[in-house]
Amino acid sequence: MIAMEDDDDQGYIDHDNDDKPREECGVVGIFGDPEASRLCYLALHALQHRGQEGAGIVTVNENIFKTITGVGLVSEVFNESKLNQLPGDSAIGHVRYSTAGSSMLKNVQPFVAGYRFGSVGVAHNGNLVNYRALRNNLEENGSIFNTSSDTEVVLHLIAKSKARPFILRIIDTCEKLEGAYSMVFVTEDKLVAVRDPYGFRPLVMGRRSNGAYVFASETCALDLIEATYEREVNPGEVIVIDKGGIQTLCLMPHKEPKACIFEHIYFSQPNSVVFGRSVYKSRREFGEILATEAPVDCDVVIAVPDSGVVAALGYAAKAGVPFEQGLIRSHYVGRTFIEPSQRIRDFGVKLKLAPVKGVLEGKRVVVVDDSIVRGTTSSKIVRLLKEAGAKEVHMRIASPPMIASCYYGVDTPNSDELISNRLNVEEIRKFIGSDSLAFLPLERLKNLMGDDSKGYCYACFNGKYPVLPPNKEVTVKKMGDFVEDGLNGSLKSINGGWVQVPRDQLETEKIN
Ligand code: SF4
Repeated sequence: MIAMEDDDDQGYIDHDNDDKPREECGVVGIFGDPEASRLCYLALHALQHRGQEGAGIVTVNENIFKTITGVGLVSEVFNESKLNQLPGDSAIGHVRYSTAGSSMLKNVQPFVAGYRFGSVGVAHNGNLVNYRALRNNLEENGSIFNTSSDTEVVLHLIAKSKARPFILRIIDTCEKLEGAYSMVFVTEDKLVAVRDPYGFRPLVMGRRSNGAYVFASETCALDLIEATYEREVNPGEVIVIDKGGIQTLCLMPHKEPKACIFEHIYFSQPNSVVFGRSVYKSRREFGEILATEAPVDCDVVIAVPDSGVVAALGYAAKAGVPFEQGLIRSHYVGRTFIEPSQRIRDFGVKLKLAPVKGVLEGKRVVVVDDSIVRGTTSSKIVRLLKEAGAKEVHMRIASPPMIASCYYGVDTPNSDELISNRLNVEEIRKFIGSDSLAFLPLERLKNLMGDDSKGYCYACFNGKYPVLPPNKEVTVKKMGDFVEDGLNGSLKSINGGWVQVPRDQLETEKIN
């Protein structure tokens, strides 16, 4: 039963106010710039939306690797003196949406390891679906692990590979990996960028005017450090940069790519170009489709900020109705901790979103959001708008109903916690208390993607997974494990850790 109110009644804090899927990571790689660590730091700022719980940078200077990682925002982990400790003209960086608990810091990337012929650092965005099998195999053969991250498996496989030169070790390793990985590696003399054959997670390449190469999860990072976008790292491609220039290799036979459609719906910044398509344009068109498919008489269109704004603009323009800021988001509450004794219903959502009475009073309001996960936040938003005087509240969702969890590097709750997996649209409408509710139809979403449509993963909307974990049982992580700000986690799971579920529940293996 999806019932936030029940949680409150049992004495648990209201943790679902940020009821969204979460991107796990963002990665950056710089080669050939004397300011590599500072550029990396700035690029990580641009990618902060992809992970707020940990950040790290590794630089290489005269064959010496220097690493600084920490828990928190990029601005909390780094300062001038720390960046001064990271000399060198190549660097990789990582922002992470991480787990709670004492193991948190050691899971913050990039990771660095030494092997027979040198050292290698890696930063990874994604999730390996065969992580358990690989780790079990390595442990049976004597490997010792320091973290619970699937990325450490990659380093072990590189160290154990007998291939030479180094680049063949990476290829040898990647051929054993299944699932989602966009990774950057740094060695004494090389920067390597790799994207899995499905291309689930994005990775782009750019260049600065001084010739330095830049890799990043999104183009917004390139823009910030004045690197010109050159192209995507193609699915299944390995790009090697060293003083001799650039080399590209094909990792393995190309399968049909399966880029994550959620990057366009929610994860990526609207100013990014992801999978060759403007995120802003996508979201605006999602809103326009909603206005065409699910029109309603209304006086004003508002957004659930920030992620619903562009779709709301599209809806308003298509419907010919004014767009107003009916909800104001506070950007300063991210790490507030609510004491368990403060059992105040809707406290969390009110901290983050404030209604504007002057916009809402007596109005028929269309409110556009990017997605509904458990439905608890939506119900609070509807109540907030009605309490602020809205006469009618019509919820429009700029994505199809989510019915399945993700295996590929996105933190989603168990499938049975997804409200659209349990209830039909009318039942959800009743649950959230809106006067009407409509989702973006999946077929219209696919049509919009046109010829590229087959190259996208829609698994969380249709349950058709491009690649499944090989074992009968998979390890999933409860959404409630993520508790750093006190708003997002269930208290009972602070020390909850891992749970085992049968594979047929189609849960997510959450390692990274
Ligand atoms: S299952 Fe959903 S969130 Fe995961 S990669 Fe596919 S589209 Fe993206």
